[in-house]
Formats: sequence, C-alpha cells, structure tokens
Amino acid sequence: MFAPDLDLPQSTLRVSALHAFAYCDRLFYLEEVEELYTQDAAVFAGRRLHAELEKQEGEDWEELFLESDRLGLRGKVDALRTRDGHIIPYEHKRGRSARDDRKQPEPWDSDRLQILAYAYLLEHSLGVTIPEGRIRYHADNVLIKVPVTDTGRQEVQQAIARARALRESPRRPPVTTNERLCTRCSLAPVCLPEEARLAHDREWQPVRLFPKDDDREVLHVLEPGTRVGRSSEQLKITRRDRPDELLPVRQIAQVVLHSFAQISTQALHLCAEHDIGVHFLSGGGRFVGSFDPRQGSIQRRIRQYAALSDPDTGLRLAKQLVLCRGKGQRKFLMRGRKGAAEEALLTQTIARMKAMLPQIENATSLAELLGIEGNLAALYFGALPHLLGEAVPAEMRFSGRNRRPPKDRFNALLSFGYALLLKDVMNAILAVGLEPALGFYHQPRTQAPPLALDLMEIFRVLLVDMPVVASINRHQWEVQADFEIRGEQVWLSDAGRAKFIELYERRKQESWKHPVTGYSLTYRRLLELEVRLLEKEWNGEGGLFAQLVLR
Ligand code: SF4
Repeated sequence: MFAPDLDLPQSTLRVSALHAFAYCDRLFYLEEVEELYTQDAAVFAGRRLHAELEKQEGEDWEELFLESDRLGLRGKVDALRTRDGHIIPYEHKRGRSARDDRKQPEPWDSDRLQILAYAYLLEHSLGVTIPEGRIRYHADNVLIKVPVTDTGRQEVQQAIARARALRESPRRPPVTTNERLCTRCSLAPVCLPEEARLAHDREWQPVRLFPKDDDREVLHVLEPGTRVGRSSEQLKITRRDRPDELLPVRQIAQVVLHSFAQISTQALHLCAEHDIGVHFLSGGGRFVGSFDPRQGSIQRRIRQYAALSDPDTGLRLAKQLVLCRGKGQRKFLMRGRKGAAEEALLTQTIARMKAMLPQIENATSLAELLGIEGNLAALYFGALPHLLGEAVPAEMRFSGRNRRPPKDRFNALLSFGYALLLKDVMNAILAVGLEPALGFYHQPRTQAPPLALDLMEIFRVLLVDMPVVASINRHQWEVQADFEIRGEQVWLSDAGRAKFIELYERRKQESWKHPVTGYSLTYRRLLELEVRLLEKEWNGEGGLFAQLVLR
C-alpha cells in the first residue's frame, strides 16, 4: 500500500508520478490524489524492473536518491553508469519498445519523459550536464538512447507544471480516449474505464478489465479456543488436539473469527501489512465488526460526503436500490413458481409485486420508499415458503421472516447468511476506500454501518435466499444436528455453521454475467465491482449501480 513520505515536502513530484502523468492524466490523479491502489500486487508487476535486474548484469550500478525543490521533482535513480566521463541514467522496462512508421524501435512517450526527468533531476542536483539517458526494453531486447536537449528539458518543466496543477484540482479527469492504454494500465481494475465509457454511451460493449475472480481464500476460524498467530509471513492456526496449520499470507483474502476464536497482535499486524480485513462474528452469528487498516483518501470521502448529503442524490440511489431488490425478489419467486404446490398464490403475489414496483419511481421521500419496500418484502416473504418442495420436512418450513433472534430453522439460516453477507459487503467497502458509516438509505440506528446495509440489499436474494432455499429443497440440512434450539430461539450449531459457510463460499465463487456490462465475474468480485460502480454515481460516470437483477 502507498505510504506517504512524511519527510518530504509535498510540493515535489515523484518522477514515477510524472511517468504516470505522461501515460494518462487520470492514472496520475488516481494514484497521487486519490491514493487508489489495487488489492492484487501482481498487477503492479511490469511497470518497472527493480534493482535485481541490474545486479544480474554483473555491472557496477550506482543508486542515488535525489530531490530538487527548484525543479519540483524527486526520485530514486537506481540505474546509473559512467560512460566516457559522462553520467548516464538507465531505465529498464519489462515490455517491448514502441515502433515508428518504419518499424524501428522508439521509446514510448511516457518512458521518454521519465528518462528525461531523471536526467534533468541529475543535472539540477549534481551540477553536471547529462548528454543522454538510455531505456532498455527487455521483451524485445532493445536499447534506446534518448538525447537530453533543451527541448526535452522544457518538456519536463511543462509536464511538472501541468501535473502540479492537476494535483490541486478537485476533479478526477475523464478516462483516456486511447483505449489501448487501459488494457496495460495497472489501475484499470479500480479506474473501470470501460464502465465509464458505457455510462456515457449505452451502445458501448465493454471489455472486462476487472479481474474475474480472486483466488485467495477467506479463512473462517470457527472453533472456540482456536488461535491465529504469526509465523514469519504465514498465519499459524493452532487448534485444540490438532497439528498447527500454516497458511502463506498471500493466499488469504480475509480472516473471519467466529465466536471466541483468538488472534494475536502479531497476526493482526501481518494482516494490516497485507491489506487483509479481519472480521468478527459472534457465537450467535451476528456481525460484530472489522479490523481493517484500509482507508480511502480524504478526497474520495469528501466527495462521498458531498454526494450523499444531498437528499435528491440519496433518494435517487435509494430508489435504484429498492427497485433492484424488489425486482430480484419477484424474479426469484417467478423461477420457483412452475410446478409449486401453491402456483396460483405465487402467480398472484408476482402480479401484485409487478403492480407495486412502479410506485418506487414516484416516491418523494425515503419514508415513502421504506413503506413501499416494506410492502414488497411482506409479499415476498409471505410467498417464499411456497418455494419449498413438498418433500421438505415440517421442521425446515417457516411462515415468514423473523429475526433477533430467529424462531425457526429457515430464519436461522437466513440470519446467519445475512451476517456473512454484511461482513463481505463491509470488506468490499473498505477495500474500495469508502466510508461505511455514510449511507443513503438505511439510517444509523443499529451497530451496522448504513452504507453496508444499503449495499447488502443488492445481494440478499442472490447470495443468501437462493442458496438457502435450494439447499433445503436438496435436503442438505440435518434438522437436529445442524441446529440448536433454546426455547423459542433457533441457532445454527457448530456443524450447521460450518456447513453454511461452505455453501455460502461456494456460491460466491460462482460466476454470473453482469446484466449491463455483459461480462462474467464471480459473485465475490461482483461485490467489489458494485461498490466501485456506486462511487461512479457521484463522479459523473453513473447509471450502472444496482442493476444486478436476476434474469
Ligand atoms: S485505466 Fe485507462 S483511463 Fe484509467 S487510469 Fe488507466 S489508462 Fe487512464
């Protein structure tokens, strides 16, 4: 994660930032102003080769850290050679060089500006003249010499002035018109240029630049008395009566501690260093909270605050959300209607929901919207029991939604599923860098952060209701062993929770074609995409949020 260099005056620019600026001004803005980064370190690979490469060549390379207040530039020149009495800065690139009209190698514009900036910085700092810089492209094994001329120095100066002005701007620049740049851009998964183009042109057919899946594991620690510690760059899981388990931290996406499982300070530090969210669920399956060091930049939070403080924006987004959830609930009932014992009743409910959905657009306040949502939910949960097949035992049936605490097995499954979903939505919000406490629909009445409650609405049917109904119809639950009943309250037993987690995590790994962007992603990636699309709503690239409706 980018750590601000507190020792340096903020007015100087890093040469690498100037390189980003020359590549795409939006890339510069995202990195320098919004401090955006991707979770996947691998996407950063390739922008620059590191010192090892130079060392491999068995040459004497020098390394210098330089800063010039007068030039407004700083940077580490880590590949420096002396040739014929002149100092020559080198830049190594993993990829191929550009080619001119005659197919001759030439540097990419951003690489050229970067090596000129290093040369100019050296001249300013050391009081020498640098005749040229060199760029080596390793993929096609080409070495290009870039002469350092007055025109080149002027270019650097002008780029610094423009980049500094952009750094002060409150507005994120639009996506580049050169789409090819985006396919190689490390920040494409957070910039979402194709989705921005789609937002402006509904005929646009976006290419997926957002990773389809995240193959890291969500580590659930269920057994009370289990301890998560640290062993070097690994998490060490110590369970009673079992050998310790070691998991490389790079394979972990989240740590979820259920009940009274423990985690050490050292393990928390390791998770913080690797941007791994640590989440806590109570023994009763309630989401307790998260330890997550990821913070969005203040610029982005100010924009979120400004947008969501506007009642009209809040109402507009809330309508999209309620419509998305209502449509999804109705579609789910439609899917299960055929052949159901109460087909006529389901048909009636589906028709009533259809008649009610247009009321959402006409709502003039959040209170009115809440009323419509409540009516839709009453219809949906009134009909949901009829999606259970005739062979489902009476113990697994239910007659409507109840919670805090759940009073039947079906509701116990739903409640635990919604707690896991809340945790995942929180994780996605924190990964993106928004403020979870600032939502637009739910009011801050409970412990749960309103924005997370808002976003959950999009996924309740897809990630919880559907797998719960399907698993009951498949007779996957043991009515005794998987549940604990205390008086009127019903909870999942340890075995039941383990079984549910498996079901839920498997569901998250399934791919689904996004109905608007047209590309497929796993549900776990869709959670993050949805948060990013929400942010686009107040960045002038809106219209794609809350469109995830079952077909
Ligand atoms: S993805 Fe494209 S528009 Fe976005 S920062 Fe990268 S190059 Fe610029």
